[in-house]
Amino acid sequence: AGTLHIVATPIGNLGDLSPRALETLKTVSAICAEDTRHTRQLLSHFGLERPLLALHQHNEEAQAAQLVARLQGGESLALVSDAGTPLVSDPGFRLVRAARAAGLRVSPVPGACAVIAALSVAGLPSDRFVFEGFLPAKASARRERLARLATESRTLMFYESAHRIEESLADLATAFGDERPAVLARELTKLFETVLDGPLGELRARVAADANQRKGEFVMIVEGAGDDADAKVVEGRRLYAKLSEHLP
Ligand code: SAM
Repeated sequence: AGTLHIVATPIGNLGDLSPRALETLKTVSAICAEDTRHTRQLLSHFGLERPLLALHQHNEEAQAAQLVARLQGGESLALVSDAGTPLVSDPGFRLVRAARAAGLRVSPVPGACAVIAALSVAGLPSDRFVFEGFLPAKASARRERLARLATESRTLMFYESAHRIEESLADLATAFGDERPAVLARELTKLFETVLDGPLGELRARVAADANQRKGEFVMIVEGAGDDADAKVVEGRRLYAKLSEHLP
């Protein structure tokens, strides 16, 4: 049977595609990609042309069965996403689960991952951290999620896009308090890479005051609650979040 290679691609700087990733993409019989046009561009930058198959949120379950059959037939395949490590806030989990359930070999080609890159430069405690992915789009659900994290003592990591960065920072400040240390990592490995640090209230104000700081892709990192987190304050914030569901 063939192997399913899970291959990380760059999160901005194309120099971050590893030699082994390139070698693997060269040798597989097809590459499963989130957006085939995007991946075609990446491959053509490296002078590669391989058959591409679309694997996204909407067809993953159906595609997985066919891909497992191809692997069982002896073909090796690669999975990539548009940027960074597949399965990390990206498709692939269902395919990997199906391949493993069929007893097939699934092998990683590690590389760039925005959450890990951000953690490595944040200067916040990094021995224990939780990755929360994207916060819910709906304000009430987002506030509720954050309220439940208010006493979390591990470093908290979130992905965010330009559309919602302002709202999300405001909600973080409300849930965790203006004083909680945080870091905003923007456009990592790209031309406008910026890593801002400061208390949440300050970060929020800086981003609100400067439209350039609202452009691009973000990892938001928040220090965990200290052992002395005032339970009453935390409970108050939880209540506030709950109440705000009923406010306009
Ligand atoms: N699989 C990717 C990874 O390994 O990081 C993440 C994919 S997720 C759909 C995209 C989100 O990752 C963006 O909205 C942003 O939060 C984060 N991200 C991706 N590239 C980034 C970069 N260069 N700088 C900061 N954040 C980035």
